[in-house]
Amino acid sequence: MYMTITREQVSGILTKEARPAARCQSGDTVLFETRDCYDDAVVSEERPLGDKTDPIENPAAGPLYVEDAAPGDVLKVEILNIRLRDWGVMRSSTMCGVFHEDFKERTARIFPIYGGKDGKTDASYIRFGDTLSLPLDPMIGVIGTAPAGKGITTDTPGSHGGNMDCKKIVKGSVLYLPVCVPGGLLSMGDLHALMGDGEVMICGLETAGKVTVRVTAVKGEAAALLPTPFLSCRGRVMTIQSAATLDEAGDLAARAMKEFVKTVMGKDNFEAGMLMSLLSDMAVCQVVDPLKTVRVEFPLEVLARCGYRLP
Ligand code: CA
Ligand code: CA
Repeated sequence: MYMTITREQVSGILTKEARPAARCQSGDTVLFETRDCYDDAVVSEERPLGDKTDPIENPAAGPLYVEDAAPGDVLKVEILNIRLRDWGVMRSSTMCGVFHEDFKERTARIFPIYGGKDGKTDASYIRFGDTLSLPLDPMIGVIGTAPAGKGITTDTPGSHGGNMDCKKIVKGSVLYLPVCVPGGLLSMGDLHALMGDGEVMICGLETAGKVTVRVTAVKGEAAALLPTPFLSCRGRVMTIQSAATLDEAGDLAARAMKEFVKTVMGKDNFEAGMLMSLLSDMAVCQVVDPLKTVRVEFPLEVLARCGYRLP
């Protein structure tokens, strides 16, 4: 049995002031039990505003204090498993998201999740209407460490991670986050059973669940090389950057990857730029949070051919 952070240990802010929910050593495996982004309050389509008077927006479980993690290190978070609750929920918003002007009131839809029993989420799906069956690809919307300065609410992404809504943070991915304060203080929540790039209506298939991760403090030069937040997923590495506009976020993510490629492949600006233009893909993570998030992907195999190995 792993060390567990329970769904009672949640917060709406990632901050160095938070009391750790648990402490572990570098290399330990920890289970995070998460609530959905509506604080598990929307349980019926008849009551789309939910059953709680003061729900936490985007609650994140944690924080986890990793004993060996010191400022300047990078926290390697291996996503070993994501196990979902057996239902998800979506809700329209009258205030946020690309389509908010289409809605006069909030409407909720509950979706049973099928085929996901015993943690075998790989083959799970929902039914959308009478004719559509949609296979799921569970991901983590909010995952971050505590920033060095003022706390950051869990609706906002940034250099600490947070509400990045990157659909590539899935089982098998490895996320690298900055350690800004002693222990790192890792938190996560806002699981989506399925979400498209952009998250245009401001929700994925929102759900709660259990996430198993292994956390390791990466130190020294290996840590200094990584442009955090940095992700490895399905044969590609990714920089993930957030800014007030998509243009700015895209520039930041591309520049961060170019500098990384330059350094680990030993290229100059022209050669690294060409490789980026030939091989990297820029994708929108989300356009609906207080800052927009863009990722830039690069094939890991090309880096490996130059002898680079991820820590
Ligand atoms: Ca989110
Ligand atoms: Ca969400």
